[in-house]
Amino acid sequence: MGSIVLFGPPGAGKGTQAQRIMEHTGLPQISTGDMLRAAVKASTPVGIEAKGYMDRGELVPDDIILALIEERIKEPDAANGVMFDGFPRTVPQAVALSEMTSISHVLAIEVPDERIVERICGRTTCGRCGIVFHDTFNPVPSSGCPCGSYEEKRRADDNEDTVLNRLHAYHLQTSPLAEWYEEKGLFHRVNGDRAINEITADLLSLLE
Ligand code: ADP
Ligand code: ADP
Repeated sequence: MGSIVLFGPPGAGKGTQAQRIMEHTGLPQISTGDMLRAAVKASTPVGIEAKGYMDRGELVPDDIILALIEERIKEPDAANGVMFDGFPRTVPQAVALSEMTSISHVLAIEVPDERIVERICGRTTCGRCGIVFHDTFNPVPSSGCPCGSYEEKRRADDNEDTVLNRLHAYHLQTSPLAEWYEEKGLFHRVNGDRAINEITADLLSLLE
């Protein structure tokens, strides 16, 4: 198996499913969103440049993203394939990726637009371990976070205005990638408007 791309709109459940697939396949998750947020927090040159785009819900320019990916996939844990979450998001990113590594599956998690705002606006993450929760759809267990101590984090860009821009960017710049991967015979769709466990089961069976 080569590397996997998790594809879908913001809030589709890519990060949630990546954490579960990682437990089964051992493939490390590479989230460009997480890498950019770490860069913003550390005020690196990449972070300083990326911040404005992220706050507005626009895509960060391809050259910045590709430089991050090029470095990341040189790490030893990426040698046997990885799971890309939130990357590629433009056709030029996909073209560049195809020259860097081989992709075996593109798994598209489909969720209708009208579900996205409620998903994003209720998202929380444990700042300690990174597990993704939702205020109503996937609450933190009453026994607390599995990591032992829940530290609630909410993303600055998880607000209604920014989400609408992110959704717009998705339809305009990212969704054309579906056709690009479909022509290559790599594209698989799953209905993402269901229980989290059902989606995980479908994704794992596509990888078998
Ligand atoms: P993405 O990485 O695609 O942006 P996330 O995995 O962060 O999406 O999920 C967005 C929000 O939706 C989170 O709060 C998550 O708990 C919740 N969520 C994920 N999958 C589902 C699902 N199948 N049904 C309901 N809520 C979900
Ligand atoms: P989402 O929940 O919207 O899927 P991400 O964490 O994947 O959120 O991305 C957050 C923001 O980081 C995006 O709105 C965008 O500004 C930037 N970003 C992340 N990945 C990419 C990428 N591959 N190309 C361009 N911008 C990206």
